[in-house]
Amino acid sequence: MYLYHFSMLLVTLLAVVAVAGATPAVPRAATAMYNPDLFQGDIKGIAGQEPGKERAAILGEQYLWPGGVVPYVFGNSVNSYERSLIISAMDDFHARTCIRFVERTSQSNYIEIVSNDSGCWSYVGTIGGKQRVSLDSNGCMYKGTVIHELMHAIGFYHEHCRNDRDYYVTIHYENVQAGMESQFNKDTYWQYVGEGYNYESIMHYGTYAFSVQWGVAKTIVPTDPNVILTEAYDKLQMAQSDANQINNLYRNQCSF
Ligand SMILES: [Zn+2]
Repeated sequence: MYLYHFSMLLVTLLAVVAVAGATPAVPRAATAMYNPDLFQGDIKGIAGQEPGKERAAILGEQYLWPGGVVPYVFGNSVNSYERSLIISAMDDFHARTCIRFVERTSQSNYIEIVSNDSGCWSYVGTIGGKQRVSLDSNGCMYKGTVIHELMHAIGFYHEHCRNDRDYYVTIHYENVQAGMESQFNKDTYWQYVGEGYNYESIMHYGTYAFSVQWGVAKTIVPTDPNVILTEAYDKLQMAQSDANQINNLYRNQCSF
């Protein structure tokens, strides 16, 4: 009996030590979004840009969706639960912006949403023909992630890569994984669409993006010490500034 108690105590102590010394694992929702081989983690390409020259990007009207209408199809891999989640993300656009996602009939330019490709990613703007939005069943099925990727598809970049971001965040390159420094390059030709920098933007990454040690070594640190950054997948809707920027970018396309 005494021995039993002693061994239980030992097991408990070892468990406590193990928890205290453990490094938090990177959530799958984050690794799915922070793809090392993609531009800024989740951008597959940019409308009108040649591969490798993506940063020389500014969206002209020809890369927006005409009329603000985005035809879409679901790949066969997308199950009914995933479809309803994605449609609820589209509803955020429908309720607050002039963008309309419509089921494709015969349109030649459209997005194909799949859940069996690797990671969460999109192209920026309309590239012509069928373009994929990848929402991996393993890690991307969060309303915030879906809104984030759809916002890329209609022409938006990342908030933390805005040209004016250095006033609002400090990138701690010493905590960034080796070789991933370029993930934090600013968008030189980023286009101002009427709203100031917003930490709450659905297009803002969290504080451990591409960190050498998730949960410990911060890579994106707000200049305002009171701000706590959240991951896109932890958000439930776009920020009001996101909605305003969408309506501003599409002001010549949408009929209000
Ligand atoms: Zn993104």
